[in-house]
Amino acid sequence: MDKQAALAKLVEDVENLTTAPLYAYREANRYRAVIGEGDLDAQLMFIGEAPGEWEAKQGRPFVGASGKVLDELLSGIGLRRQEVYITNVVKDRPPKNRNPKAEEVRLYAPFLVRQIDMIQPRVVAPLGRFALACVLKQLALPTKGQTISRLHGQSLAAESSDGRVTIVPLYHPAVALYNPEQRETLQRDFQKLNDHT
Ligand code: URA
Repeated sequence: MDKQAALAKLVEDVENLTTAPLYAYREANRYRAVIGEGDLDAQLMFIGEAPGEWEAKQGRPFVGASGKVLDELLSGIGLRRQEVYITNVVKDRPPKNRNPKAEEVRLYAPFLVRQIDMIQPRVVAPLGRFALACVLKQLALPTKGQTISRLHGQSLAAESSDGRVTIVPLYHPAVALYNPEQRETLQRDFQKLNDHT
């Protein structure tokens, strides 16, 4: 199956997942599932937590306040969002942007793995603690004690279905909204992405 066909199937599978705990909320609010966007051949793949309201209304990842920060961070390393691939662990908006529940992460994680298999990125950058925990688990790396504050900006070697992939955990861009120091940390950590692509 080529990438476009694999993506179309993925979209269909997520949209029709009526058993998902967030499906009724999506329908009741006329939200959309947010699958991801960007270059299907990207070397660099970003994985956020879950869509917020703007994202669920538009069916696009990172188009609200955090998205603006992400765009700025990308531009700081000479990239535009069309050149990377951006997705989330959870494909539907949790009510009031609450943290995703473990059962939601479990339910959506296989779709994320399908996306990693499809894009075959050289670098995977989980944004924030939920994405970090999910990526470590799905790529069979140790998770115990592996917090985002300990691992941010580091490079971890992992194996995907395609071979070697480097994981570079990053803070979630939302942290930069209210904390200038964290924004600087994110800017520094983003520079490291260029070392691997
Ligand atoms: N935060 C996320 O984690 N993902 C989005 O798509 C938007 C905000």
